[in-house]
Amino acid sequence: MLITSLASGSSGNSTLVCSDGTCILVDMGISVKKTNAALQSKGINPRKIAALFITHGHSDHASGVHSFRKAFKVPVYGTYETSDIYVDRRGGYGGFQEMGVELDNFIKEGEDKQIGDLTIEAVRVSHDARHPVAYFIHNGNRNVSVITDLGESNALLERRVGECNAVLIEANHDPLMLEKGPYPDMLKLRIRGPRGHLSNQQAAKILRGAVSEDTPVLLAHLSKINNTPQLAIQAVHGSLRESGLKAEKIRALSPYNDPTEIRI
Ligand SMILES: [Zn+2]
Ligand SMILES: [Zn+2]
Repeated sequence: MLITSLASGSSGNSTLVCSDGTCILVDMGISVKKTNAALQSKGINPRKIAALFITHGHSDHASGVHSFRKAFKVPVYGTYETSDIYVDRRGGYGGFQEMGVELDNFIKEGEDKQIGDLTIEAVRVSHDARHPVAYFIHNGNRNVSVITDLGESNALLERRVGECNAVLIEANHDPLMLEKGPYPDMLKLRIRGPRGHLSNQQAAKILRGAVSEDTPVLLAHLSKINNTPQLAIQAVHGSLRESGLKAEKIRALSPYNDPTEIRI
């Protein structure tokens, strides 16, 4: 399996996950042009993408869905509450910059979707959007995760992280940088709240209880204002080392088309 990032952070998110035979994308918060360029630089023909899974309707995860779907006729999956149908029927928005996403198929928690030889499971997360999820993607006995945009952990999520051979997880902010940073108080409250984003330390805690020594970890959705790759890696590194793990395979993703590729 391959897991790599086309974009990560508040200006856009998209993650590529492939088995030998099937490729999917998780989230589409960048333009078709950028997606094309990033996929081609990784040697993937965009027409080979079999499905697009959306974690939630915030624009940094879903703004490119319409154009991508039109350009490549790729089926888009997400929870019903994330869809434009739900928004049209029920009205209202779940939170900050949330849109109704054009979905072709709905995914429910506890129900696996099979795309080629990939099995995709959605696990509920706590975030200020309508029914946001993280995805766990299985191929044979190999498992990877795409976990971003959550304010706190939960038992099922941690159990699934423990089953992963590679983990992509949000490490959004350093609490001190956020506290001292330029954001208005309301936004600071939102980010560090239970429906906001994971701090470096929260990500470290989830990993510490779940991963083994040689599990490759990609730290994702780093804030450009309230975090640095060094601080994120340090926090996770320190925490894992304290529990006796060497933790040599931890990387922090850069915002656009990070070249890091994890193959398991
Ligand atoms: Zn986001
Ligand atoms: Zn979000």
